[in-house]
Amino acid sequence: MATVDHRRSVGQGRTATAGVPARIRTFLDRDRPQTPCLVIDLPTVAERYADVRAALPEARVFYAVKANPAPEVVALLVRLGACFDVASPPEIDLCLAQGACPETISYSNPIKKRSDVAHAHRVGVRLFALDSTQDLEHIAAEAPGSSVFCRLLVEPAGAKTPFGRKFGCSADMAIDLLARAAELGLAPYGVSFHVGSQQTDPDAWEGGIAAAARVFRALAERGIRARFLNLGGGFPASYLEPASPLPVYGKAVRAAVERHFGGMSPELAVEPGRSIVGDAGVIRSEVVLVSRKSYDDDHRWVYLDVGRYNGMAECEGEAIAYRIVTPHDGGPVGPVVIAGPTCDGDDVLYQRTRYQLPLDLRAGDQVDILSAGAYTASYASVCFNGFPPLPTHCVSDRT
Ligand SMILES: *Cc1c(COP(=O)(O)O)cnc(C)c1O
Repeated sequence: MATVDHRRSVGQGRTATAGVPARIRTFLDRDRPQTPCLVIDLPTVAERYADVRAALPEARVFYAVKANPAPEVVALLVRLGACFDVASPPEIDLCLAQGACPETISYSNPIKKRSDVAHAHRVGVRLFALDSTQDLEHIAAEAPGSSVFCRLLVEPAGAKTPFGRKFGCSADMAIDLLARAAELGLAPYGVSFHVGSQQTDPDAWEGGIAAAARVFRALAERGIRARFLNLGGGFPASYLEPASPLPVYGKAVRAAVERHFGGMSPELAVEPGRSIVGDAGVIRSEVVLVSRKSYDDDHRWVYLDVGRYNGMAECEGEAIAYRIVTPHDGGPVGPVVIAGPTCDGDDVLYQRTRYQLPLDLRAGDQVDILSAGAYTASYASVCFNGFPPLPTHCVSDRT
């Protein structure tokens, strides 16, 4: 059972909004936007992009658009020279509309319709992931001459939101798929894998890198020179449970590439989503009610106006434990269950993770959920139970 002492994040004596980036605080104080809402600090996005670049300078950075598809975020990353990892035609069109060149787009989703491959090719995308024969045939037919990389199935421990076995194939199968790609007139560019999101173990890439090196060698024996090693995402944002800083990840990954690839020096790529936008966002939410279920209940229920369906999807299974800031931080606290506003019994954010919130917390108080820039607005439902999707406001130095 996860046990989190909330006081660790809201510590005694700190101001109510400690941890909220200054520009976001200014915007919230001045504009008083309707809650719930997500506010993204664009300069933090730029900073985190620079951090990823610095941690792995030899790698091309493909931003995983699904983490936060706000047009302002994509436009900023276009200006900074990022490439983009997309999963669907609408994500491709979003990147193009924000000024990305099609050559900077990687269609990294191995699960796609034939018509989606055709759309991507029509608008200029020439780089595709695959993990199956059927998708390979679709790409050969609808995107002739394109470069393809094969996703390997890896299942390292340590990820807060693992991918399970949905994506990727065995190394043996990858070798055959890439060899077949060459026969079909495609460029067998290399391999990718993803260690699962919010990966807390910097050594989790080792197994995938070792498997990738085996694929490269086997292809070389067949006269095929693979070049592309796409290390996926998985780099962390700052939640209650601390993770290692990015340079530690960079060092571990680089050492593993050295160890398994030796002199082959592949072209490296990463596909960070969470680590680029997670810490840049704050969700401002209002306390709807605070109640108890019986006179002797030892914990209170705190109902927020944000829940599983309008932004807090990653609370499923309590995978991600966000840091929460309230106006009463510093005062006495007690145990709480935190829940969302809808009439759905699953719309509970935390009941096993032991959050402690101030005893003074009341209906109408505004609370801030920190590091909420990734997988929040993009996961919000259309309008479940009449609660609209989470709106996003972006702030910058010019705001
Ligand atoms: C979601 C996804 C990513 C981003 O993962 P993070 O853990 O957010 O960095 C990268 N690559 C692929 C293929 C993905 O599906």
